[in-house]
Amino acid sequence: MTESTNGTREPSRTGRSAEALGRAIADHLRYSIGRPAAALQPTHYYRALALAVRDRMQDNRTASTQTSLDLGNKVTCYLSAEFLMGPQLGANLLNLGIEDAARDALAELGQDLYEVLACEEEPGLGNGGLGRLAACYLDSLATLERPAIGYGIRYEFGIFDQEIHDGWQVEKTDNWLDNGNPWEIAKPDVNYLVGWSGHTEHYLDDAGRDRIRWVPGRLIKGVAYDTPIQGYGVKTCNVLTLWSARAVKEFALEAFNTGDYYKAVEDEVTSETVTKVLYPNDEPEAGKRLRLLQQYFFVSCSLQHVLHIMDDLADASVHDLPERFALQLNDTHPSIGVAELMRLLVDERRLDWNTAWGITVATFGYTNHTLLPEALETWPLGLFSESLPRHLEIIYEINSRFLDEVRAKFPGDEDRVRRMSLIGEDGGKTVKMAYLATVGSHAINGVAALHSELLKDSVLKDFYEMWPERFSNKTNGVTPRRFVALSNPGLRALLDRTVGEGWLTDLDRLRGLEAFADDPAFRQEWRAVKRANKARLAELVQTETGIELDPSWLFDIQVKRIHEYKRQHLNVLNIVTQYLRLKQNPDLQMAPRAFIFGGKAAPGYFLAKRIIKLITAVGDMINVDPSVNQFMKVVFLPNFNVQNAHLIYPAANLSEQISTAGKEASGTGNMKFMMNGALTIGTLDGANVEIREEAGADNFFLFGLTVDEVEALKRDGYRPAEYIAANPELAAVLDLIEHGHFSHGDTEVFRPLVHNLRYDDPFLVCADYASYVACQDEVSAAWQDRDHWSHMSILNTARSGKFSSDRAIAEYCDDIWDVSALTVH
Ligand SMILES: *Cc1c(COP(=O)(O)O)cnc(C)c1O
Repeated sequence: MTESTNGTREPSRTGRSAEALGRAIADHLRYSIGRPAAALQPTHYYRALALAVRDRMQDNRTASTQTSLDLGNKVTCYLSAEFLMGPQLGANLLNLGIEDAARDALAELGQDLYEVLACEEEPGLGNGGLGRLAACYLDSLATLERPAIGYGIRYEFGIFDQEIHDGWQVEKTDNWLDNGNPWEIAKPDVNYLVGWSGHTEHYLDDAGRDRIRWVPGRLIKGVAYDTPIQGYGVKTCNVLTLWSARAVKEFALEAFNTGDYYKAVEDEVTSETVTKVLYPNDEPEAGKRLRLLQQYFFVSCSLQHVLHIMDDLADASVHDLPERFALQLNDTHPSIGVAELMRLLVDERRLDWNTAWGITVATFGYTNHTLLPEALETWPLGLFSESLPRHLEIIYEINSRFLDEVRAKFPGDEDRVRRMSLIGEDGGKTVKMAYLATVGSHAINGVAALHSELLKDSVLKDFYEMWPERFSNKTNGVTPRRFVALSNPGLRALLDRTVGEGWLTDLDRLRGLEAFADDPAFRQEWRAVKRANKARLAELVQTETGIELDPSWLFDIQVKRIHEYKRQHLNVLNIVTQYLRLKQNPDLQMAPRAFIFGGKAAPGYFLAKRIIKLITAVGDMINVDPSVNQFMKVVFLPNFNVQNAHLIYPAANLSEQISTAGKEASGTGNMKFMMNGALTIGTLDGANVEIREEAGADNFFLFGLTVDEVEALKRDGYRPAEYIAANPELAAVLDLIEHGHFSHGDTEVFRPLVHNLRYDDPFLVCADYASYVACQDEVSAAWQDRDHWSHMSILNTARSGKFSSDRAIAEYCDDIWDVSALTVH
């Protein structure tokens, strides 16, 4: 075991040597875990090492806060209802640069780092891409040395665990906190009261002015839990503050006094349900009120916290808020913050309206994540006014002043005024949260070039015409620390050797790989790395599903939430097409392929759940049929999450990004695949457009209708039956599924899916089918030329630099937040 370089023993809380870490682990096993040596399991070593690592971040955290306070640097606050952080231990070891020390220290204790890492329950506090984006951005903010706070919700139960029973998705509660969470530090003294419901009343203040106050019907307490966010290779350590709901004890006192002890306890229980569970998206109506409460709860705590920090600054007042903090709204979930900040400034700080509004707009930025009308948040007016009566009044006031501005800018255009109102009139009055976020922000952005353009000429068109200067694009990115270095150690080593270690914080340096794209020896190494990753994934697939995969096959992977717009069913239609071709022509020479799927369906999303059943049913038939299983297998890998994503993205040869053009705002999975050398088969949607631009059209498999063609087709009246009638293969595939070929003769189970495709097909699966199948045939042909495939694969990684979240965060900091780097010593 290595001693520290100067021979003295390093402190066990901060030392970076294996020796110091070893002592720290032993200390934590003894004093924090409290287990006799004989009873120690890998999970205890996990907790002890995690605590030792947290200690090492804590000093950096203190230094970062102090530096930022001393120098008055502006801070980014990233407000997000979801943070899909993934396992923390590996990422923190990497960012601290103590992976080897940890491996050695554990080895000395007879433990294997890999086994210890596997003990972590990942915090699944998000649904998918949006939550994972927030997590990648926290990693980049810290690595770029930008002071930042992530604000969110400490859900007791994160996204459900998915099991597959008899081919169907079954949801299990995610008990991620069962064994405690070594990363967080509870801060019971950092707590705020949050009101809910009740009424508003007028009163005269000391100066005799008429004022309004909110008298909530209920109070809930929010308590902070802080998780350190360590930057890579720097001292900067930011923080993720998650709020947890508690009952307000004094509030329940009356019940206690009147002897209604159980009523008081009941109140306590209901208060704590506020942060009980993460809602799956695509879940209609049910539980909506609690969701609004969750949003308001975490936003109010966060804003109160920010104002509290402002109060403590010697050199600033609340008027300086926009100079000291940037508040970013990750989608509309935190957009109630616009009204809440106004309430805090006007009602509680007694600022005049115009001053407060100036501060609010200068401080907030809004990132839009979707154009899907059903996903744009609106709240029924009745529900809203019962829940947040004062906020509704404030929104009315914002709206009336805003609409006057619209009238001034577009005189006589009352239709425009009606369209732009924050209060929707169609089908029962609603509060339109995307509009509130837009009006309350000085900067509005989409998440890929195409998406930002579509935003400007669809859902926010009127607002773009009002304030064109507020709109910009910030194409998403992903962190290469987690999604290359941590998840693909083989590639990491090869990149280090080939382009030097700097790529990890300057991903454009991967361009240096281009020179090796035609080097036979390098291609050999490239393939060896990919092959080892495929063997790793094959092992996981074997344990999870019992299906055996051959790592020499083409690994064709689609992992993401299951959704009609993402079109997993289009993928299945191609699989069944290839299956039919093989059945009809046993001599067909097909390039062997493993079709691998993963992803969760929202529990209430009927068709998405049928799509999972279809994938597993097709797999069940194909995988055991000796006349086809030499050429194809179909796998549904259960419970796609960040942990298994680490094994999945690096193992792909082909990345499926096949959404209907115009529907996927950006995608980030597409970027993770590209960095790891997968080729993309995709539509011109979201960031695929930019991926193809960067990779070069020759290194991308393009198919399908464009956004313009999709719109034209819909406008002219799309009739899927015409496409089915014109394509005998498509007709045969649909018949086969509908007539129960994959369901033991059961003609009911897939009928809703097939009917949807035949008679409605809102996402144009039938229209894109022929183009997709033809493109898949091109993929198969290209795969036969291994050297050329490697050439394309190397170029994809080489040209993925743009998709680092470091690039995205640098753009946000420069264009929207005006937050500069601050080196911590
Ligand atoms: C990246 C990621 C996503 C987003 O995938 P898309 O293909 O962009 O939809 C969802 N879930 C997890 C676990 C991820 O890592």
